Amino acid sequence: MSATDLNCSFCGRPKPETQLLIAGLDAHICDRCIIQAYGIVKEETEEVTKAVDLELKPPKEIKSFLDQYVIGQDTSKRVLSVAVYNHYKRLMQVPSKDEVEIQKSNVLLIGPTGTGKTLLAQTIARYLNVPIAIVDATVLTEAGYVGEDVESILSRLLQAADYDVNLAQRGIVFIDEIDKIARKSDNPSITRDVSGEGVQQALLKLLEGTVVNVPPKGGRKHPDQKFIEVDTSNILFIAGGAFDGIEAHIGKRLNLQAIGYKTVKDQRQVQKENLLQYITPKDVRSFGLIPEIIGRLPVLTYMNSLDKAAMMQILTVPKNALTKQYVRLFEMDGIELLFTTGALEFMVDKALTFNLGARGLRSLCEAVLNDAMFELPESEIKKLKVTKQYADQKLSKVEWPQLKAVS
Ligand code: ADP
Repeated sequence: MSATDLNCSFCGRPKPETQLLIAGLDAHICDRCIIQAYGIVKEETEEVTKAVDLELKPPKEIKSFLDQYVIGQDTSKRVLSVAVYNHYKRLMQVPSKDEVEIQKSNVLLIGPTGTGKTLLAQTIARYLNVPIAIVDATVLTEAGYVGEDVESILSRLLQAADYDVNLAQRGIVFIDEIDKIARKSDNPSITRDVSGEGVQQALLKLLEGTVVNVPPKGGRKHPDQKFIEVDTSNILFIAGGAFDGIEAHIGKRLNLQAIGYKTVKDQRQVQKENLLQYITPKDVRSFGLIPEIIGRLPVLTYMNSLDKAAMMQILTVPKNALTKQYVRLFEMDGIELLFTTGALEFMVDKALTFNLGARGLRSLCEAVLNDAMFELPESEIKKLKVTKQYADQKLSKVEWPQLKAVS
């Protein structure tokens, strides 16, 4: 037999089609089969180590980690810490016949945009060192429609887990804008047809726990594509949404329509601050989520709108606060960057007028500092003090298409 007649004993590929064919006693193995076998060995051994890895973190410890990154939002931090703790208790439960079955503690986070919903989910994933997929519910459609299948969520999670299925199966999925897939009939303000109810039904299966065949690279299903089986039973789902106008529902339920003579602005504040805390699953339902979905998101909590003090803290206090990031960026060019309190207050005031929570702060910082970041690296200037006047002057030059004020 000539060397070119040899085949891989595993896949049968002839030698000319391989990069490398290694001979054993009476078998051969090609480069591709070696890589595949290595993957299997790695996965199997990691499974063993990871099962041991899973360490139960008490809620107080989880919360104090969240405190380092997320300002305020004490209620939701406490609720989430307990939910995560229970979730991991559930994962560690040894299945036996007569044991009480602990149900999943998927979470529904309700609150205005830019108040830290995504940040909370990300920070929890960071603490637990598990992969997280952040998806926008508005792009989800039923299979067969233009848009992304609900299963694409799991493709993202697999990507985040670097295709380690076991890791993905213990990951976190954050579904943003869950309120935008409400049934049309219950929410007249919705203008897009994303077949809300169909998407909700598809999501329901994932939330309940099912095995899904996931196309590894995302995108649409295709008969030729190799699927990866992902079991969603142990994935923690956190859904977030602004549920605009839900305070009115709560108010109505609490019979609070008449709250005296106040300006519109005052009224909104009273409602936001006082009413979200009374939220119940029923309010969400009246907003267009099907009861089964609400039932599968049993941990319900809310986010407070951020006031000026909270925004000031967001700029300066968290471990990776925005101003700290810019100070570091400038430092790398040997430039000392300072912000006066006046400048910070000025930027916070601006951000508040955009009604985008802390979301606007990043763009504002970028606009204020862009000129300096462009000019200074090659100049002699070694110190930049950002004052209110400096910030005002830089911002007055900028148009704000990306930051339209939301009234
Ligand atoms: P949401 O998901 O509620 O719309 P995000 O979590 O995406 O808001 O917040 C956008 C950005 O604003 C975050 O990346 C973070 O920089 C900042 N931010 C928002 N809320 C907070 C908070 N409570 N503490 C610290 N930073 C925050």
